[in-house]
Amino acid sequence: MTQSLPTLKIGPDGPLDRHLLTDRFGRIFNYLRIAVVERCNLRCIYCMPEEGIPFTARKELLTTDELLRVVRAGTGLGIRKIRYTGGEPLLHPDIVALVAGAASQPGIDSVHLTTNGVLLSRLAGELRQAGLSGVNISLDTLREDRFASITRRSELAAVLAGLEAAQTAGFESIKINVVALRGFNDDEIIDFAEMTRDADLTVRFIELMPFDAHQIWKTGTFLRLDVVRQQLASEYGALAAAEGSATETEAFRIPGFRGKVALIPAYTRSLCSACNRVRLTADGKLRNCLYGKHEYDLKAVLRGGGSAEDIRDLLREAVGHKARDGWAAQEEAVDGGGRERVSMTQIGG
Ligand code: SAM
Ligand code: SF4
Repeated sequence: MTQSLPTLKIGPDGPLDRHLLTDRFGRIFNYLRIAVVERCNLRCIYCMPEEGIPFTARKELLTTDELLRVVRAGTGLGIRKIRYTGGEPLLHPDIVALVAGAASQPGIDSVHLTTNGVLLSRLAGELRQAGLSGVNISLDTLREDRFASITRRSELAAVLAGLEAAQTAGFESIKINVVALRGFNDDEIIDFAEMTRDADLTVRFIELMPFDAHQIWKTGTFLRLDVVRQQLASEYGALAAAEGSATETEAFRIPGFRGKVALIPAYTRSLCSACNRVRLTADGKLRNCLYGKHEYDLKAVLRGGGSAEDIRDLLREAVGHKARDGWAAQEEAVDGGGRERVSMTQIGG
């Protein structure tokens, strides 16, 4: 069910409407990414050490009820899109209820999920019925030996079964997220692009980001997306631009293919001016930028008797302090303290 949004008034300094979540630079935030768990059933080398991380105790993570309170309050500020992530969100015992609770919320247009896909074959149908619009499946290689070396688990067959189940379930959007890694999967770019030949899905190549305790991105694995773009162009010739989401500055359709290929400059940060997202960590902290370290304690508001308006006030505060872009946020983080997170599983990607 959707609710019409308040109309946006633009003033000399950007949007004026206090019913919308806006920042100093005129950006409008309508997308909330929520990490629902920190734990994961894989151990991707760029994300989590083999031994895991010091996981937050369960009682310190937001409950299903608290998460849905945030979603509900957010709609009053124009939040329209929810993405559940983690950790591995399909490990959350209430993931279906979380999807149903958000999808049935007036004002929410779509609920999506980012998953490693291992448990998806079991849950795809139920999630679709609960109102999930789309899934992003993270998959960096199509080769079993490589899959085991990057995730430290042998689950490629399960992930591929998950993808198939998602296709059968009929989601509006299915995307494959591929972290581009030099010397690891740069010879699989075309294999991934070929997945879009007959299937209506988007394969997205994403730059490696410096968010892991072991900093593997410093070890020469970073692959510039120019290399991916060149490989695609030399294989397929000129690529037709296709419409992509806010993060997909470069979305292409290979001539004659059903699906799309997109490039996401996650490290290069050339998309910050179009940023429309706020993040909520599993332990209840708002983050206004992936590259910043400052956190806003929403759990304290939720557990301290805060009202929906108090939740909205903290969302406004977090967004009000958002830096111009990820480079500025990183600089502020160096000077201004904040909390270092050792893994993307805590922030949600
Ligand atoms: N477990 C789920 C998954 O893997 O899809 C959701 C959480 S995961 C942290 C979300 C996304 O972050 C995944 O697509 C993953 O590839 C990406 N990610 C994690 N660490 C990254 C890094 N250092 N650089 C780039 N992407 C990263
Ligand atoms: Fe788990 Fe996703 Fe991190 Fe891989 S990227 S360890 S699947 S949270």
